[in-house]
Amino acid sequence: MLKTKTYGVGRICIVDGCGTLLSAYNPSGVCALHGGAWQDDFHRSSRKSSQREETTRRCAFEPCAREFMTTNPAKKYCSDACRMRAFQARVMGARRMGDLRGARRAS
Ligand SMILES: [Zn+2]
Ligand SMILES: [Zn+2]
Repeated sequence: MLKTKTYGVGRICIVDGCGTLLSAYNPSGVCALHGGAWQDDFHRSSRKSSQREETTRRCAFEPCAREFMTTNPAKKYCSDACRMRAFQARVMGARRMGDLRGARRAS
């Protein structure tokens, strides 16, 4: 008969002053409360190390020029909307110049 693995009964949380009786199925030496807190700490610090520092930038789309926070040094616009509008303005400007050149050549 298969016996569920247990880690012993009668153990208490190793955190000072806690004294919570541990479940026999709890592989760690701390209660659920303290185990969770440790996990949170671990996740927080690992997230912090992989995250770049936030910097304040100004939107490169001049009519907007809104300040925004970003961790991406390549990000130039505060939002996708501004990025699209700036891109469209650039395309329209290029097209207008092209039209002028074409018109001059034609006349
Ligand atoms: Zn505890
Ligand atoms: Zn913007």
